[in-house]
Amino acid sequence: MYVTGLMMQMPLLLSSILEHAERHHGKQEIVSRRTEGDVHRISFADTAARARKLANALTKIGVKPGENVATIAWNGYRHVEIYYAVAGMGAVTHTLNPRYSPQQLIYIINHAKNKTVLFDVTFAPLVKAISAHCPTVERWILLSDENKMPAEPPVANLLNYEALLADASDTYVWPQFDENTACTLCYTSGTTGNPKGVLYSHRSTILHAMAANCPDALGLSRKDTILPVVPMFHVNAWGLPYAALISGSKLVMPGAQLDGASIYQLMEEEKVTIAAGVPTIWLGLLNYVTQNKLSFSTFKRTLVGGAAMPISLIRAYDELGVDVMHGWGMTEMSPLGTVSKLAGDEYKLSKDEQYQLVAKQGRALFGVDMKTVDEALNELPWSGEESGELLVRGHWIVNHYYGDEGEKSFSSDATGKRWFATGDVSKIYPNGMMQITDRSKDVIKSGGEWISSIDLENIAMSHPAVQEAAVIAMPHEKWTERPLLIVVKKPNAEISRDELLKFYEGRIIKMYIPDDVVFVTELPHGATGKIQKSQLREQFKNHVMP
Ligand code: AMP
Repeated sequence: MYVTGLMMQMPLLLSSILEHAERHHGKQEIVSRRTEGDVHRISFADTAARARKLANALTKIGVKPGENVATIAWNGYRHVEIYYAVAGMGAVTHTLNPRYSPQQLIYIINHAKNKTVLFDVTFAPLVKAISAHCPTVERWILLSDENKMPAEPPVANLLNYEALLADASDTYVWPQFDENTACTLCYTSGTTGNPKGVLYSHRSTILHAMAANCPDALGLSRKDTILPVVPMFHVNAWGLPYAALISGSKLVMPGAQLDGASIYQLMEEEKVTIAAGVPTIWLGLLNYVTQNKLSFSTFKRTLVGGAAMPISLIRAYDELGVDVMHGWGMTEMSPLGTVSKLAGDEYKLSKDEQYQLVAKQGRALFGVDMKTVDEALNELPWSGEESGELLVRGHWIVNHYYGDEGEKSFSSDATGKRWFATGDVSKIYPNGMMQITDRSKDVIKSGGEWISSIDLENIAMSHPAVQEAAVIAMPHEKWTERPLLIVVKKPNAEISRDELLKFYEGRIIKMYIPDDVVFVTELPHGATGKIQKSQLREQFKNHVMP
């Protein structure tokens, strides 16, 4: 007979993070670059009080538990208050990615049946363009000071966030409910078909934030100042607004200014120790720092993910004294699955060997299990040789999409365990390191072999003249597909097609070397910073390979 443990059962609710932050790290700060133009500071204690006011204000205007409350907003203190107040009262914070097309946003708002939308002034033109197509929305709330309301409001009956708060009491007792209650909703990029919703629970979100805080992942402490450059509209800013308040780290929010110069200035002024974002952000920052011969005085660690971090960038940041933690995950995984921190003897390897390891996507966090499978869903060995689709399961992995779409992504194994198919192709090494070689739809199938576009891109980007690179598959009569390399050169750098192809020799087996190179001034990036390979395939569909 099993015996029940005699321990307290406290539901894992997001409101408990806010209460902890207020009681135990009350003086710690959230610093935000605002759309009003200034830098704003607020303590965790005052944030908690404003979140209680917001819960009262939202209740007063009719927001009910279980309702999806949408935001279209940058990273900032108001967005943090919304995260906690909406979820704390039992409703669902639904973050909309403003980089989606207006048609996608209209689809998502209607699909989620949003009645309330809170938005930054930057997105007033977007709201103006979509509002007529969003019949479910009853309340549009502008996130601005009361005296900064636009002369021509984008919608009729526009409400002001600060006015709502000014009228509200800061006395509010967070309700206690089942920890499996939904707290946030985020739609995936939707590169194929319509975007799909992932509905996170209080429990999954807290477990994810606690795991993300382990030393071989973010390892946040009270001494840290964290800059989430990753937007709060992309998978809850990777859980950092929760992790920071749990650990008492100062939170620095960049607002709308995500260029290298603005990020650098904020890092230096606020003494940022750790940051998180997609590789393109770190490329922009690196260009600014190297062009201006600058260095970092406090910045020591960065969590990079969302797309593969090129070895060249890992090396450049290491040389600037910044340790790159390369993470892999996805919206469906809250997002963190693996982090590529080195282990034991790996620290004794040469720098180049260490960079090779960090460029892989890393080892699973406790709470996530993973395996690679063949087409019949048989598990592949952890040999580091065979690639297959990556399947995951765990406490913060999606169990169903919102609205029960996309059921074909899920399967059960012989023991009845449920797995989610990520759509990523990867290999797992004997030491537990996982390496993404491609998205399944981006892999290059040549002569019966799968060529990794990420490997080819990494080699191109290690050439000093190359700023950014993407490899796509081109149809080929004999080999089925062959790789085409598309490159953006660094400013003022020169390199020819033949020189670049020669650079591959000795770095990869001959039959993997791309057949051709095209130079472009810019690569298309999607709503979450990833290179849009579908767009490149369309753009170069008539390209004639040699
Ligand atoms: P999203 O749901 O928009 O966050 O996108 C998730 C997808 O981004 C994953 O399934 C991967 O294809 C890709 N991705 C995320 N992190 C990495 C990484 N470190 N390396 C390579 N691809 C990544």
